[in-house]
Amino acid sequence: MPVYEYKCKACGKVFDVLTSFNNLDKKAACEFCGSKRTVKLISGFAFKSEGKMSSSSKSCTTCSATSCSTCK
Ligand SMILES: [Zn+2]
Repeated sequence: MPVYEYKCKACGKVFDVLTSFNNLDKKAACEFCGSKRTVKLISGFAFKSEGKMSSSSKSCTTCSATSCSTCK
């Protein structure tokens, strides 16, 4: 099953959702605050050539996003 990254607009957290294609149209509820105000992030496949090499900072430990502004 594919894993998608979602970002919660309510609390700003990024989380992974394991989903099936049947659920693609559904909004994933934030696993931190339960809000449905989530947006699906572009997967790493689309941007695999951008930023990975120049970014020396490793991704945060709580989410896999490299541009996470909410985690340290
Ligand atoms: Zn949230």
